[in-house]
Amino acid sequence: MKIYYDLHIHSALSPCGDNDMTPNNIVNMAMLNELDMIAVTDHNSCKNCVAAVEIGQAVGLTVVPGMELTTSEDIHVVCYFPDVDAAKAFDEKVAETLLPVANEPEIFGHQYIMDKDDEITGELETLLIGSCDISIMEVTEFVKSFGGACIPAHVNRESYSIISVLGEIVPECNFKFIEVSKSGNPLDYAYPSFSSSDAHYLENISERINSIELPEKSAKALIDYINGRC
Ligand SMILES: [Zn+2]
Ligand SMILES: [Zn+2]
Repeated sequence: MKIYYDLHIHSALSPCGDNDMTPNNIVNMAMLNELDMIAVTDHNSCKNCVAAVEIGQAVGLTVVPGMELTTSEDIHVVCYFPDVDAAKAFDEKVAETLLPVANEPEIFGHQYIMDKDDEITGELETLLIGSCDISIMEVTEFVKSFGGACIPAHVNRESYSIISVLGEIVPECNFKFIEVSKSGNPLDYAYPSFSSSDAHYLENISERINSIELPEKSAKALIDYINGRC
């Protein structure tokens, strides 16, 4: 079946994510845009996925729990998980390796954790935009060991992308897909690609434009597709 997606969206948990990026607002905007599947991918944390997945379930929108991981080389990699439990386990491991720098909300922005009613239940103190002690060379296998899949983010951008840091999409990293942001041309690369919004504001969430063919509308089907099992 044809699935219209936006698989790179930041919530108010990302310091750079607008405070209006609440779990309900994200899901409602995706529904308004007639998307079938979205992923919430905050910097180095999965903590707002729990609420977003639950809200999505109630309205028939598939919300894939995800994260935009910053590798030790300062490369952004978008990671997807089959369910909230896998995402939570991954989140715990990443939190252990994240640089222990405190967030300064007045400079970087707030890092709000929210529940399914958009109530703020906490604020993360460790700055989420630092790097983790996980290398780009090991990230694919590391994410797979949690049942997930990952792709290098916005490869066409001049910062925090695999090409800007390493000069190429290194084959040994074993990526099957890449993400090319709207300003890039997918035909410039020898990899099949996703095109997602990287939205930090509600109005930037994708319209019903980009699609993939999956056997079913589920996080698991997406992960199998990325890992090349279907
Ligand atoms: Zn990024
Ligand atoms: Zn992003």
